[in-house]
Amino acid sequence: MIDFNIPLFIGRELDYIREAVENKKICGDGKFTELCSRWLEKKTGTNRAMLTTSCTHATELAAMLTGIREGDEVIMPSFTFVSTADAFVLRGAKAVFTDIRPDTMNIDENLIEDAITERTKAIIPVHYAGVSCEMDKIMEIAKKHNLFVIEDAAQGLMSSYKGRALGTIGDYGCLSFHETKNYTMGEGGALLIKDEKNIERAEIIREKGTNRSKFFRGQVDKYTWVESGSSYLPSDINAAYLWAQLECADEINKERLNVWNLYYRQLKDLENEGLISLPYVPKGCVHNAHMFYIKVKNLDERTALIDYLKKNNIQAVFHYLPLHSSPAGKKYGRFNGEDNFTTRESERLLRLPMYYGLGEEKIIYITDTIKKFYGKV
Ligand SMILES: *Cc1c(COP(=O)(O)O)cnc(C)c1O
Repeated sequence: MIDFNIPLFIGRELDYIREAVENKKICGDGKFTELCSRWLEKKTGTNRAMLTTSCTHATELAAMLTGIREGDEVIMPSFTFVSTADAFVLRGAKAVFTDIRPDTMNIDENLIEDAITERTKAIIPVHYAGVSCEMDKIMEIAKKHNLFVIEDAAQGLMSSYKGRALGTIGDYGCLSFHETKNYTMGEGGALLIKDEKNIERAEIIREKGTNRSKFFRGQVDKYTWVESGSSYLPSDINAAYLWAQLECADEINKERLNVWNLYYRQLKDLENEGLISLPYVPKGCVHNAHMFYIKVKNLDERTALIDYLKKNNIQAVFHYLPLHSSPAGKKYGRFNGEDNFTTRESERLLRLPMYYGLGEEKIIYITDTIKKFYGKV
């Protein structure tokens, strides 16, 4: 079976984990957390990066920092992972879902203003497949209506929009290092903070509501409980695993792009014949080959293709069931406007195996199998 995903293991992870253990520092904010955080800051150009236990937790932290509370509304696409909504719903806010653009599967920036009410507090763009949302327009709307922008850049490390790293354009950016992402620590994430004035409070909330970070820097002589918070620090063991990968992120990224580009070339004929659609990357967007998806005619064709690929030992999978159709989505959210594309396009989308080290031979086998399904070999 060709797996859909194989969690990245690049080689030095276990050496670094051993080092963390031998350093007798395996709790949060040790050497490897420090290395990863500084690397993220340098690579993305953000003011401050903080490792967290997940992207979901980074988003929760952002929701607390922006003071989202009961009765507030937060605008996001319905075509996203549950965490995008959960982080805000947990604070008592309502998720206001808007339709997506069929070309990128990202929030349609032209539908956002219509969803704004006097309760709206934030816009949450989700950069699907590591391809950026139309951030200039989104930031302009946010500025005009005085809204926060929290980027769900879970899939977006190493991607950019007009030269700016995803996750650094809005007030906050949330990254994921879950094992399904391009770089991983098993479970983990990071919060990117644009504005220096928000750093201190983020440190406090992340550290159980204490000023312990200040204490460690010698800025206070005792640490104490200063506000409500939680515990969002990952163990340095996990950070050690991640560091091995960040260290050679450019090489990993290049290799993933090779996989992506070969898929694209191999399947271009099917697109030209109008049988499938391939991903679209708008001008000004640099992507990170997080995902390779195709879109087929409809749900029935997708089900048949998944079956066919499975019979040929290829694991291909669909993606999000639109949140507004889920039980919790109905309870905690509402869809603003018409669902022209969210449901229809999500039913057409099929993700192909994608991981570091998926070699040429396998990709050609996969694409040939798809061509056979369409009677094109
Ligand atoms: C993976 C993912 C998340 C959640 O990341 P975790 O680190 O598992 O919490 C959130 N949003 C999107 C778009 C994702 O792809």
